[in-house]
Amino acid sequence: MCNPVTFPLGNIKYLNIFFHHVPVDPVCGIELSEDLATILEHDGKRIYFCCEGCKKLFEKKPKKYSK
Ligand SMILES: [Zn+2]
Repeated sequence: MCNPVTFPLGNIKYLNIFFHHVPVDPVCGIELSEDLATILEHDGKRIYFCCEGCKKLFEKKPKKYSK
């Protein structure tokens, strides 16, 4: 779903060495930086997405992606 050309988080694997609790995009499974992620408030929880496209997919079918 995510276009690698516009995906801005190429250094995430590097960041994960230092931060153990990283949000994960529930749609595409990519680990994110909190600073750069697109955030949606859902059922009182913050959910992080790598891009608007993933956020929109989640908003359409939240049950499919939330566990
Ligand atoms: Zn994504």
